[in-house]
Amino acid sequence: MIRIPSFDLSSRNTFGMKVSCAMYIEYTSVEELKSILAEALPQPVFHIGGGSNLLFRGDFPGTVLHSAITGIDFHDDGDEVIAEVGAGVVFDDFVAESCRRGLWGVENLSLIPGEAGASAVQNIGAYGVEAGDVIDKVFCIEASSGKEVVFRASECAYGYRDSRFKHEKGRYIVTRVTFRLTRRYCPSLGYGNIKAALEGRDLEALTPLDVRDAIIRIRREKLPDPAEIGSAGSFFKNPVISKEHFDRILASVPDGKVPHFDLPDGTVKVPAAWMIDTCGFRGAVRGGAKVFEKQPLVIVNDSGSASPEDIIALEDEVIAAVRDRFGVILHPEVEHI
Ligand SMILES: Cc1cc2nc3c(=O)[nH]c(=O)nc-3n(C[C@H](O)[C@H](O)[C@H](O)COP(=O)(O)OP(=O)(O)OC[C@H]3O[C@@H](n4cnc5c(N)ncnc54)[C@H](O)[C@@H]3O)c2cc1C
Repeated sequence: MIRIPSFDLSSRNTFGMKVSCAMYIEYTSVEELKSILAEALPQPVFHIGGGSNLLFRGDFPGTVLHSAITGIDFHDDGDEVIAEVGAGVVFDDFVAESCRRGLWGVENLSLIPGEAGASAVQNIGAYGVEAGDVIDKVFCIEASSGKEVVFRASECAYGYRDSRFKHEKGRYIVTRVTFRLTRRYCPSLGYGNIKAALEGRDLEALTPLDVRDAIIRIRREKLPDPAEIGSAGSFFKNPVISKEHFDRILASVPDGKVPHFDLPDGTVKVPAAWMIDTCGFRGAVRGGAKVFEKQPLVIVNDSGSASPEDIIALEDEVIAAVRDRFGVILHPEVEHI
């Protein structure tokens, strides 16, 4: 167990915000976690993963917990394989190992930053696949009682970047997650430009590693590498609006073209990136913060020394401009702490 007072969190959030917490505790087992939870900790308590979806607004006055529960075990279950993954495992290490073993299921989630525990909280998604599609069970400790609780995926209320854990904030700490993978050939290539990235390949002979490589190439072209430039990925959620509202937006655009996805319930999802771009924010700089040129849905710590205020000022300006231009309120995907 590691326990450090007045801990500098700059290396623990991918935005690279220079903030600290009163106490930082990293534990390596469920038993250690239970004993920590029984203590009188500096309040409030917040559980962090890789810090890749967080914006710290300033120094955190309480305790930041982090899981160093590691280990990836694969158990055969007929054609299927159950992967048991410690909450502190870097999610992409698990994806890489699964693909290396020829297992299908998580290859489209390659290169998403963060840890396995948070993947079950966030219901991470990319290229038509969400964690909730492949999660089998989520093993947790209830923070208030220290009791172990296990949820089947069907009990996790998974939706677009959503889960029961987001609505019961702080109640459960994820300690490990099991994923259901398969040896059966079942690539999911229908989304975005995956097929284009695999042009010339015999699609029937693809391996999970081939798909992983293609996804990694696509992501590297348009997303900032947290090792080089600070960000928390997509800053805003894509808004879902009524068909009538969408038709009004369509009529207001000179070329009559608005990228969108019609949803089964008759509503329409419009890419926030398109709205932000149309409002002229691509590449906009405010203080040390910038709207990323290659993907306007991302706000980056361009200077490396952006303050939380810089990021929030740019966020507020984008929200106001999109509201005034399209009558749509953008909501941040990034959690503000
Ligand atoms: C460059 C970049 C690209 C990205 N691309 C994608 C993408 O394609 N798709 C996508 O879905 N996301 C994407 N993200 C967002 C991010 O990677 C995910 O949200 C990821 O799941 C966050 O994991 P983390 O471990 O960093 O969690 P953190 O950001 O540290 O925490 C996220 C939330 O999970 C909670 N949490 C963390 N660990 C635990 C635990 N053990 N128990 C209980 N709660 C916990 C935290 O309290 C917090 O509420 C991207 C981010 C970046 C920086």
